[in-house]
Amino acid sequence: MTNIYRPPYILRVYIKIIICDSINIKIIKCITFHYKGHLVAFKERKIDYMDREERDAKIEKLAKWIKESKYTVVLTGAGMSTESGIPDFRSKDGLWHKKKPPKLSSKKALVADYGGYVDSYKEGMKNRPNYKPHQGYEILAGWEDKGLVESIITQNVDDLHVAAGSRNLYRLHGSLFEFKCNDCSTPAIKDHFLDKIPCEVCGGRLRPTIVYFGESLPKEELYDSIEEMKKAELVLIIGTSLVVSPVKKFPQLTQGKTVYINNETKEDDFDLVFIGRAGEILEDVNKKLGAI
Ligand SMILES: [Zn+2]
Repeated sequence: MTNIYRPPYILRVYIKIIICDSINIKIIKCITFHYKGHLVAFKERKIDYMDREERDAKIEKLAKWIKESKYTVVLTGAGMSTESGIPDFRSKDGLWHKKKPPKLSSKKALVADYGGYVDSYKEGMKNRPNYKPHQGYEILAGWEDKGLVESIITQNVDDLHVAAGSRNLYRLHGSLFEFKCNDCSTPAIKDHFLDKIPCEVCGGRLRPTIVYFGESLPKEELYDSIEEMKKAELVLIIGTSLVVSPVKKFPQLTQGKTVYINNETKEDDFDLVFIGRAGEILEDVNKKLGAI
């Protein structure tokens, strides 16, 4: 008979408790871990579900407002164009936060180095990708055709609204693709500008109609835009951070409802706010409009 060592009874009980406890702790930890996992997943699902629900409700509300409004005006800014690939300037990731605006695209260059100014335009256009209006532009142009939108006021100079077919358009910052005399503002043709031919009326220098820093906005466009804002029952403000005067005060001109659509938040008083891509939001609203 072999003499097996048996620990005293008390010690055996103590060892059992330790083993059981470590097993219990593992079981408890395991349950807690799984429970936590489910809880987090459940919370995330709930948030996602609520966001989607909230977004759907907002989309439906906007579609209803567009349908009901007798005078809807749209105000667009750089955020609309960035979705077509055009770099923006003023947003937090924008070009002007990384580098200063190119010298040859300034009024100063136009006066001091006209040859270089025209050449920089030619160079810029040659290297410019062929930007196309995204679906949001097409939808806005379609709403204008259907009488759901009266006019579009834009701060963009890229003419994507023109390319999409919008007609009642107020271009507050001019256009990269239209030209005038710098001195007397007589409209000019592109080829004359590219060939550095002087203005036929006063002999002045030709240039694109874009508005440079320090220049006034085109009077007629500004006046008409203000009138449009006053008449509006509904204003869609899309892709603009509303930091540039006088546009930043435009929302205050309307007695109508204001809807803000941008991928950056804006601390302001709007009736409805969407944070996201304008193209996607307009697409969803358009689908909803079709279903009403
Ligand atoms: Zn002139």
